[in-house]
Amino acid sequence: MTQARLMDGTAPARRIVGDAAKKAAGLAERTGTAPCLATVLVGADPASVTYVRMKQNRCREAGVESRHVALPAATTTAELVAKLEELSADASVHGILLQHPVGDRVDERAAFEAIAPEKDVDGVTFASFATMSFGLPGFVSCTPGGILRLLDEYGVDPAGKRAVVVGRSAILGKPVGMLLLARDATVTYCHSRTRDLSAAVREADIVVAAVGRPRLIRGQDIKPGAVVIDAGYNPGDVGDVDFDSAVERASLITPVPGGVGPMTIATLLEQTVDAAARQLGA
Ligand code: NAP
Repeated sequence: MTQARLMDGTAPARRIVGDAAKKAAGLAERTGTAPCLATVLVGADPASVTYVRMKQNRCREAGVESRHVALPAATTTAELVAKLEELSADASVHGILLQHPVGDRVDERAAFEAIAPEKDVDGVTFASFATMSFGLPGFVSCTPGGILRLLDEYGVDPAGKRAVVVGRSAILGKPVGMLLLARDATVTYCHSRTRDLSAAVREADIVVAAVGRPRLIRGQDIKPGAVVIDAGYNPGDVGDVDFDSAVERASLITPVPGGVGPMTIATLLEQTVDAAARQLGA
């Protein structure tokens, strides 16, 4: 068996950001207003600080303004909700990103629900999940949306295929399964209580790993010729898939880093510009 082809996310992400930049420039020219993304960070977790900085840098490249709100780790749910409601009501802010996880002190769901659906460019609210699942206009959760774009980039049509999603979080596992279902895949969700994970993965034409456990999915469980999407990111640039063994069995596989990550940020940028266009009536 030959080695899998790499599903590079950096080149398509660059193109998506470039297109968003053109759209943002056109919008600024027509309306006199540049799209603006508010980033909200609670505490100073080093990984979260890095993620927010990457998103701000990408905003700058695309001509999208970013307004950063840094809140102390001791912020209460009520204080965070109040800040998000304030941003939701602020006409100069078009998109809101609450960097998560927000920590144990805060009710994350209550915070997400304080984001106005029309500014939910990270696709985290109940409203966004519902519109996405029903295939109605709205914002998709960014990592799942980026994964579907990556499949399209590499000519992978999910229709009729068996897709196994490992992980069922509200922002990643569940929504990516819903997007695959909407594209006519037969979807199985696995999670920490799944009895025989290996057996489930062995059935998959498309595997999406979204767990946060280094190298949990091993090459021996990958069906020869399967498409492997590794959304996991663990310390040391390690994914949830054992890349070295999986690359020998898969037909296509995402690298970590450089696969799903850049597509996530590109989707955020694209949705922020779209949100601004709608709010500015352009
Ligand atoms: P999460 O909220 O912690 O969810 C992890 C999921 O994995 C849960 O559904 C959990 O099951 C399941 N799980 C845990 N151990 C398992 C096991 N041994 N076997 C099968 N399933 C198991 O994590 P998340 O926020 O979805 O993130 C998952 C990974 O994606 C992390 O590595 C994160 O860093 C990465 N991520 C990457 C991006 C990106 O842009 N590339 C974006 C977001 C997240 P239960 O539900 O039963 O607990």
